[in-house]
Amino acid sequence: MSMRYPIATLALSIVIPVYNEEKSLPLLEERLFPALDKLQKSYEVIFVNDGSKDRSQDVLAELFERHRKHVRVVNLRRNAGQHPAIIAAFQQTRGEIIVTLDCDLQNPPEDIGKLVDLVEKGHDIAGGIRAIRQDKSWRKTVSMLANKIRERITNIRMIDQGSMLRAYRRYIVEQIVATAGSSPYIPAIAHYLASNPIEIPVGHEERAAGVSQYTVYKLLRLNFDLITSFSIVPLQIFTMVGMALSGLSTLLVIYMGLRRLIVGPEVEGVFTLFAILFLLISVTMTGLGLIGEYIGRIYMEVRQRPPVVIKELLE
Ligand code: UDP
Ligand code: MG
Repeated sequence: MSMRYPIATLALSIVIPVYNEEKSLPLLEERLFPALDKLQKSYEVIFVNDGSKDRSQDVLAELFERHRKHVRVVNLRRNAGQHPAIIAAFQQTRGEIIVTLDCDLQNPPEDIGKLVDLVEKGHDIAGGIRAIRQDKSWRKTVSMLANKIRERITNIRMIDQGSMLRAYRRYIVEQIVATAGSSPYIPAIAHYLASNPIEIPVGHEERAAGVSQYTVYKLLRLNFDLITSFSIVPLQIFTMVGMALSGLSTLLVIYMGLRRLIVGPEVEGVFTLFAILFLLISVTMTGLGLIGEYIGRIYMEVRQRPPVVIKELLE
């Protein structure tokens, strides 16, 4: 895959994914640009419009007119998902340090400076920890579970994998783009690549306007990506469980066979058998799904189809 890389000519690139954010964009504009001007560094803001179905594209075009000096807009042809969209924008960045944040003001733009400082001091990544997270409780539970699983089965050590307010040294971003593949989970890949990452508490606010763009399905997919892209442990656990269960089933069959010879045929056991059968079938299905998950990933990689297609670039 050929990658066009601009060289770093600016101090900072801010990358913001936008999906149906017509209402939050004006609010973000009000706070983002003053916060960035205050840093007194050369910067660009790259908005990547992830196939929004509302007026986001027009709102971005207007915003671009007001901030031509600083803003670039990447319009994707269709909705690719937050992380692939960010990867598409990463390929356009010109900053020495690259910062990602959400469009809905859940990540306070005023905290960008703190993270940039840490990267300038020598950390290759500075991540935000959402000290007091303002999200629905089921979201927090999902995150907590995904965090726990990731802790156990990968060697990535981080406190808050879900926060998108992060600053990266340029070489980390270049490596993310080169190695992310088609189903990336950016903070985890970044931590995997980093040599001295740091995480500090940052603010977290309620969504400024609109609703979360994450459906249960998108969230599940993202967490599957996180687990399967770093570890084949789920596959191994499944194989081991499968082997143990096959062993037990063999014993059961032998036992049933002997009973049949000694006690004679029994009809009452049918339901127990069914239960066991269902259990075994469900385990098999889980395993097939899991294998499918990995084969799916292999397929996506082998296919080498660019995951996101840029429709137009305002710059
Ligand atoms: N987003 C995106 N593509 C998507 C879903 C979300 O670019 O398919 C963007 C969205 O506009 C926002 C960020 O990703 O800037 C985080 O999305 P959201 O606020 O919906 O997620 P949450 O904060 O609930 O995790
Ligand atoms: Mg949000």
